Amino acid sequence: MVKDKISGLVGIIGYPLGHSLSPPMHNAAFKHLGLDFHYVPFPIKPEDLADGLEGLKSLNMVGCNVTIPYKEHIIPFLDQLDVEAKMLGAVNTIVNRDGMLWGYNTDSSGFLRSLVEDLGFNIAGKKALILGAGGAARAVAFALAKAGIEGMVIANRSFGKGQKLAEDVQGYYPCRVQACLLEPQTLKERLSSAQLLVNTLPLGMYPHVEGMPPIQPEWLEPSLTVCDLIYNPPKTRLLEMAEKQGCTILNGEGMLVYQGAEAFKLWTGQEAPVSIMRNILKQELERQD
Ligand code: NAP
Repeated sequence: MVKDKISGLVGIIGYPLGHSLSPPMHNAAFKHLGLDFHYVPFPIKPEDLADGLEGLKSLNMVGCNVTIPYKEHIIPFLDQLDVEAKMLGAVNTIVNRDGMLWGYNTDSSGFLRSLVEDLGFNIAGKKALILGAGGAARAVAFALAKAGIEGMVIANRSFGKGQKLAEDVQGYYPCRVQACLLEPQTLKERLSSAQLLVNTLPLGMYPHVEGMPPIQPEWLEPSLTVCDLIYNPPKTRLLEMAEKQGCTILNGEGMLVYQGAEAFKLWTGQEAPVSIMRNILKQELERQD
């Protein structure tokens, strides 16, 4: 298994990387389990991506995470794709198996685990409205479809991208998926028949914390569950508004921890200490305030 490798080196590639929370989260988990693994950030420029992946192999790295802007672009450079990554068309975790690079997507299962374990949300028979159609929205839509949601609507600024995601999901799963524009009147109508609202737009993310998707408080019934994939700040304006309306709320912290936990298991073969990872994440976020 990967643990026997000489170098227990993993990391994250993206550009620009900014201050990623994954290195402290994983390093705390390795330390807690006494594993000789180290997680390092690798800000790799687009023109250096191919060389970067060759470097990963020649350094005998165990693997890495992949973040913006490479989750989709990286696919042609990989040797094998896990079935989930193939469906989603996006990779956030690479495992180096004897020089063969395998691509996985753990964002999808990370979101699902958070929704089910952190919130106890019962997905079967529900309808969702998803704001956005980017990489994170793809992870959410495929996760909900896999878990047996009855239907969902994907609302996006660029209609074609939302429609493409709707078609992709329906190509694999029997649930009804529609696309619509990110436009107030349409959102109001679509929300009236949904039990779950998931924001995957970066609106409201630090440092632009005043940002907000075009949702009005009076559209939010207390029976609605509102998820925002943003974890910094822990409570976006959307979540604050939803909480005031009596909705159940969930931020992106659990998704971040659980996607990391699954990557951790792929690299080390061991269960990740999720409570340690979550505590470090909270501490890091508090430090950034
Ligand atoms: P992405 O692939 O770049 O997609 C961004 C989406 O937001 C697209 O649908 C885009 O619409 C839309 N958008 C961007 N700016 C907008 C604006 N000003 N007005 C309206 N729509 C706008 O990004 P992503 O990877 O999906 O990430 C999205 C968010 O999810 C980020 O906040 C990220 O931090 C979060 N995330 C969290 C986790 C976690 O573990 N919690 C994991 C992944 C992502 P167009 O298609 O029209 O451009």
